[in-house]
Amino acid sequence: MNSVNRYFSNIGKGFWTVMVGMKVTMRHLFTPAVTVQYPDARMAIPERGRNRLYVNMDDCIGCNQCGMACPVDCITIETAKSLPTEDLGTTSTGQKKRLWVTQFDIDFAKCCYCGLCVPPCPTECIYMTDVYEFSEYNRNNLIYNFTTLTAEEAAAKTQQAREAEKEAAAKKAAAAAAAAAQKAAQAAKAVASTPPAPAIQPASPVAAANSKSEPAKTTRPGAQEDSGNSAVSSEQSVSAIEKPAEAAVNKDNTKDSAN
Ligand code: SF4
Ligand code: SF4
Repeated sequence: MNSVNRYFSNIGKGFWTVMVGMKVTMRHLFTPAVTVQYPDARMAIPERGRNRLYVNMDDCIGCNQCGMACPVDCITIETAKSLPTEDLGTTSTGQKKRLWVTQFDIDFAKCCYCGLCVPPCPTECIYMTDVYEFSEYNRNNLIYNFTTLTAEEAAAKTQQAREAEKEAAAKKAAAAAAAAAQKAAQAAKAVASTPPAPAIQPASPVAAANSKSEPAKTTRPGAQEDSGNSAVSSEQSVSAIEKPAEAAVNKDNTKDSAN
């Protein structure tokens, strides 16, 4: 290809490239505009979009399941036991409410919108809303307080619950002490009603003497007689020794008289 042909070929390729690019432009030139004129207009949020949370406190039972599920600990819940005389009503799911929720704060400055706090809720009272515009200049303004009690009411409920708890503990301790005392009394009564053991009679002097001489009795019968006999036999043996001596003396005397 000579230089003239190459020149015109490059012009054609450039023109074609421009036409390809302009094709996309021309296509969008006649389609309706899709730009949302925010904030005058807003796009619809997907149904499962995760935005700002909301808590319906009428249904909250203060179980703290949501707080335990939160990975960044941005939910703070405080509760106080209600008195037996107080009726807090039931939730829309039919669960009886027994706790005053004195504090329910969510710090949206920490929240990562993971949605993990939503499924564990037994009454489905915490859920994501479609609100995503809540910017603040002050970070503390991102701590949302959902409790319906005022600070004074919350303090009063907390104090009331503490006093009731103390009272219950005192009653429990008194009942335990009474039970222990009753048990001790029963044990003492059982000991008192037990018949005394038979007394051991002391041995009579005669029996004592017999018992003392018992070992002598147990010796071989006739042992004493044997000892007596042995004494006699010893006397006899002595006399038997002495008799030959006397006989010898008498024999000498007879010899002398014969001389
Ligand atoms: S969305 Fe996630 S981070 Fe936010 S409060 Fe719920 S669990 Fe915590
Ligand atoms: S899980 Fe639900 S009912 Fe339990 S404290 Fe959280 S919001 Fe309330």
